Amino acid sequence: MSLFTRMKSRLVSAGEKAERDSLPFQSTRGDLRASAPEAVLRGLAPDGGLYIDPLLASRAFDVKACLALEPLGQAEMILSHLLPGFQDMHTLVCNAYQGRFASEALTPLVPVGDRYILELYHGPTAAFKDVALCMLPQLMTAARALTGVREKTVILTATSGDTGKAALEGFHDVPGTGIVVFFPHQGVSAVQEAQMLTQIGNNVAVCAVRGNFDDCQSAVKSVFSAYADRAPVPGVRLSSANSINIGRLAPQVVYYFLAYASLMRDGKITFGDPVDYVVPTGNFGDILAGWYAKQIGLPVGRLVCASNANRVLTDFINTGVYDRRRSFYKTVSPSMDILVSSNLERLLYYACGGDTDAVRGNMLRLQNSGYYKLGAGEMALIRRDFSGYCCTEEQTLETIRDCFRNTGYLCDTHTAVALHAAEEYREAEKSDAPQVVLSTASPFKFPAAVLTALGESSEGDAFCQMERLAEVSGLTPPSSLSGLQGKEILHHDVINREEISDYVIDRLKAF
Ligand SMILES: *Cc1c(COP(=O)(O)O)cnc(C)c1O
Repeated sequence: MSLFTRMKSRLVSAGEKAERDSLPFQSTRGDLRASAPEAVLRGLAPDGGLYIDPLLASRAFDVKACLALEPLGQAEMILSHLLPGFQDMHTLVCNAYQGRFASEALTPLVPVGDRYILELYHGPTAAFKDVALCMLPQLMTAARALTGVREKTVILTATSGDTGKAALEGFHDVPGTGIVVFFPHQGVSAVQEAQMLTQIGNNVAVCAVRGNFDDCQSAVKSVFSAYADRAPVPGVRLSSANSINIGRLAPQVVYYFLAYASLMRDGKITFGDPVDYVVPTGNFGDILAGWYAKQIGLPVGRLVCASNANRVLTDFINTGVYDRRRSFYKTVSPSMDILVSSNLERLLYYACGGDTDAVRGNMLRLQNSGYYKLGAGEMALIRRDFSGYCCTEEQTLETIRDCFRNTGYLCDTHTAVALHAAEEYREAEKSDAPQVVLSTASPFKFPAAVLTALGESSEGDAFCQMERLAEVSGLTPPSSLSGLQGKEILHHDVINREEISDYVIDRLKAF
């Protein structure tokens, strides 16, 4: 029985239909309902849960017609379906993407050896998160108009490196909004840090926190909980740009379609052939978007969850125990240095057949005891769609080197983790479906590690390293990265995690 047969039997019964149509979203932890614009504006549900659409897989979607469209047409059709209740998605999509990506394809698919690499990083900040964070401010602005919200919407974000800059770029100087970004002090790459600390805008704040990403994320979540039903300062509402926000997750579904359409167009597959996607994973947002694509009908084969040395998800998929009680490693793929993957909660909801009490119980257990264990039935459902593999630091560097030597393709550290997992998966599970490996960052964002992998010197600052990497590879660094050199540092705050709440209040008063 699929996840959704179970869901439907529970949900289609009661006379909830009218409410469901106008308020299609619900919290993973209870019966709180919301319209799509409300869910986007709130980010997190008031009970601390994440917004999901219980009928995700049962509303009809014409996949074949969608795949035949141009990239922006696909985005419009998918987003209208996933976020019903927004008007004029066409304009929102055009405002978000037109002229802002280096490639007409948005996310080009490149054949490398016997697999395909989906390059997600050609947006304004050279981060895969641009795909979603170009769209989110459009959705928020529209949602404010649709719901008649008068208060300022302030985005609070914890970042493992890339969300911060992409969100700052998306929200700076957007009327009616403000943004506060927290990142782990000394826990992001020098280039990522420079990107954030040079951010202009009169509605932005950027602050380093002594601690790791999980510390930042949990502190931000507790600020959300503290102000779930009251304003932190008069005239302000908080929201999130992390993938806990459904408005951030939905745009990520689009590139799974774009990759599939590209393979069809090139005659590599015909409609209906399964395609495996391998995803470098941290907060479980990107890969969950792939699962959403599958739920609405895209012929996705397996979703391979690739982790670095922080292998909590690999262990979860293999054992059924999610256990964050372990050492935290700072790796060369810092955007995946995460032990609490927020979006897993959404998958849990569906795997538990919509049992919000079970989800809430597991999330409490994770918070209080550091782990939870799923039953065999739930795990069987999850394993029907997901495999998990992980990659050590050594293997990451080896993969970058071997890929460059054997194919001439230069990848970053996160993509290397996925390439390694792709190989292990293919060998272990004897899969011969075409493989799409998601590439989440430009190699120029992590030049020191990439140079080391290639056996080159990583001396000098990040800009020297970028130059050397350009020479070695013959590639040109994205101008959004090389152009950072010499820009003035505008943000200097470093705080302890206990100070996050006070910091937020201070900044809100100043906006
Ligand atoms: C955010 C990020 C990831 C992880 O994506 P999730 O949606 O958090 O799983 C992987 N690679 C890079 C470069 C990222 O910025």
